[in-house]
Amino acid sequence: AAKKILNFGAGPAKLPQEVLQKVQRELIDYHGEGISILEMSHRSKTYAGINDGAQQKLRLLLNIPENFKILFLQGGGTGQFASVPLNLIGKTGKADYIVTGNWSRLAAKEAEQYGKVNYVLPETKTFIGPPPKDQWKFTPDASYVYICDNETVYGVEYPEVPDTNGVPLVADMSSNFLTRTIDFSKYGAIFAGAQKNVGPAGVTIVIIREDLLNNALPVCPTVLNYTIMARDNSLHNTPPVFSIYVMDLVFNWIKSQGGLKEMNRRSQVKSGLIYDTMIATKGFYSCPVNKSSRSRINIPFRIVPADVAKQAELEEKFLAGAEDLGMIQLKGHRSVGGIRASLYNAVGVEDVQALADYMTNFYETAS
Ligand code: PMP
Repeated sequence: AAKKILNFGAGPAKLPQEVLQKVQRELIDYHGEGISILEMSHRSKTYAGINDGAQQKLRLLLNIPENFKILFLQGGGTGQFASVPLNLIGKTGKADYIVTGNWSRLAAKEAEQYGKVNYVLPETKTFIGPPPKDQWKFTPDASYVYICDNETVYGVEYPEVPDTNGVPLVADMSSNFLTRTIDFSKYGAIFAGAQKNVGPAGVTIVIIREDLLNNALPVCPTVLNYTIMARDNSLHNTPPVFSIYVMDLVFNWIKSQGGLKEMNRRSQVKSGLIYDTMIATKGFYSCPVNKSSRSRINIPFRIVPADVAKQAELEEKFLAGAEDLGMIQLKGHRSVGGIRASLYNAVGVEDVQALADYMTNFYETAS
């Protein structure tokens, strides 16, 4: 492209330029072997090195304790909506789901096929962050408590890990994985599809405490079975080798940038730029989410002009003007409309500054 593109897509999303360049250089002839990584056996020594290396780097980046297994699976976040209950609900037949947006709602629906699902929060259609803790109803004998750590569509993120009273906590971190440190003492399992912060679509990361294995329901398909995949080091069948290879390069990149503390610092700065612009423009841009639950990563917002009848027209104009400046994939999810800025790790602070400046300019000309 002739003009510089600033990619605010929700996923698949921007990857670090250095990573893409390295992939391009290595694609035809991987490290002098005369064939591409795309053409290489997953049983080869070379691929074993990539698989083990990626695992070790992830363990170091996140400081994952030895009693957690790292799995590289397929099937995306949606695959895990089934995998989690298939592997974990068997213990008591029940699970608690904290629904804070569409992704946790879909996960709960999927789990209903495999056991008794208890909804911890009162039902709602407006996802603006969970209600006060006194409205949460846990089941004491749940096999696990499920959360979506960052709801990508609604922009709702947990500021802190919810207390589950010792029941294993399972978290979908698809859209905020590797954007902050994780205290593994508070989790039983976490999972993330790669296509936002980590690499290409196709690989799904699962990190699970060892003592939760060996509970799969008899109907659990082999490719979704954590116990089998852990036993076989994620090489029970052909893994998504290319996605894992690129993900490994992204791990290198994150380390070179200063690791997860730095990713979190940047996330705070980037999201702060957008939320501060909303304050400075006096309600012209509105994000419905409660302050304490606002996402550092996905920021959905609407334009609220003095004449509300002009909303649709102004939002279209905003998006078209953004595209003229190279700022793409800012359209809100089809289920909620409006605008959404996704600020994943590879999106630079300067890109977000450009978006904030555009928001200010657009406000000044439109109001
Ligand atoms: N969970 C979250 C938080 C997501 O953002 C998404 C996709 N955007 C999914 C799950 C579903 O992922 P997939 O499309 O890989 O099935």
